[in-house]
Amino acid sequence: MNTARKRRRLLRLWEDSPLCHWCKEATVCVFRPFEKNKGGKFRPRPDEATLDHIHTRLEPERYLPVGKNGHEVVLSCWQCNATRNQEEQREMPIEVLRMLSRRSTRTRIGEA
Ligand SMILES: [Zn+2]
Repeated sequence: MNTARKRRRLLRLWEDSPLCHWCKEATVCVFRPFEKNKGGKFRPRPDEATLDHIHTRLEPERYLPVGKNGHEVVLSCWQCNATRNQEEQREMPIEVLRMLSRRSTRTRIGEA
């Protein structure tokens, strides 16, 4: 999904209900230009609305074909999204983590 589509989806979910799917707290919808996060120094506010997959990468539902709800996304505050992400990574076997990071960064030469 490209960024523009993601934003439209987020906005649609947010207009539907601005509450976080997980903690039920109200979120804020901020669309900030990406330039502001150069170097990753910028910390988003905890109540910022984000898109979150309803199933984590640990759940088999996530791998069902598109249209079978496995790719369903919900509105989540930044805080819940980040917490779920951390928990997911803690539970994930190291082999899986390695595989996932390899997929996104490509194996560097000389790395086992
Ligand atoms: Zn939340």
